[in-house]
Amino acid sequence: MSDNPLLRVENISKTFRVQGKKLHAIENVSFTLEAGKTLGLVGESGSGKSTLGRLVLRLLESDKGKIFFDGADLSKMSKEKLRALRRDMQIIFQDPKASLSPRMTVGDAIEDAMAIHKIGTKASRRARMTELLERVGLPSEIQYAYPHELSGGQLQRVGIARALSLNPKLIICDEPVSALDVSIQVQVIQLLRDLQQEFNLTYIFISHNLAVVEYLSDEIAVLYLGEVVEQAPADELFKTPTHPYTQVLLDSILKIPETPEMKQQMVSIQGEVPSPLNPPSGCTFHPRCPYADDHCRSVKPVQSLVADGHVAACHRVKEPQDLLLLNAK
Ligand code: SF4
Repeated sequence: MSDNPLLRVENISKTFRVQGKKLHAIENVSFTLEAGKTLGLVGESGSGKSTLGRLVLRLLESDKGKIFFDGADLSKMSKEKLRALRRDMQIIFQDPKASLSPRMTVGDAIEDAMAIHKIGTKASRRARMTELLERVGLPSEIQYAYPHELSGGQLQRVGIARALSLNPKLIICDEPVSALDVSIQVQVIQLLRDLQQEFNLTYIFISHNLAVVEYLSDEIAVLYLGEVVEQAPADELFKTPTHPYTQVLLDSILKIPETPEMKQQMVSIQGEVPSPLNPPSGCTFHPRCPYADDHCRSVKPVQSLVADGHVAACHRVKEPQDLLLLNAK
């Protein structure tokens, strides 16, 4: 791990006030991410992964913790400096249509992103926009189309071109392929991978699907009710999944779902995610965990070291013999 990662997140937490109660959306999350690498954030709906992405970009303010980007402490940065830095930190959404004006052609939308950041002249922006459309696999005539005239896959490519127009260092990809057909998912993921290699891009790739995340990620963090329950290099996580939640996710998510029914099945792991407004005592995963005992129900596990660079928050990983038993299941 480099001493100067592009992104360093230290113990960030975020609570919301909902129905007069405190909702712990993110609790003490830390990670580092080197330039040119991908961190996959995985978890079911409500795990806090999208909130975490927005906290990193400071689209949401964290309650505590620090975020360093390219050596600068974002929490100490003025709004003006942060606005300038936003050029380096882009986001691609699950629904790119929602981030495009229905009254603007896609060419104008890409050019507008550059104009807002005062990049180039009108002519150079138009030329760059055409070049980017081509780079993401779209014909240049598409610049005259409006968002409603494009398919989901084409719109996602426009979203990627728009993000790329600012030459970012970091892109947060928030479920960018979840709404797409499986064949288009593969194409978009391949495109993101090619672009990463070409431009040395750094990604935070958010998905509920471990299979999607595996392909792109160097490191994976598994989130459950706002906490990282397991984190490891991607190949290590797939070889030695240690937290019972990761194991269940892996068992149930062996491939990209081909139908909405399969997708539904994929996320319906034993029971529901508990309400974050009323989280379970002790280990928050205990109501769904096949190994839960009284200790789990009363004492919250902390992250334990499983192997170099691999941590998991589960009482069963404290003893090496337990770890072996757990991984043998
Ligand atoms: Fe399951 Fe207990 Fe581990 Fe939680 S601490 S994941 S309940 S075994």
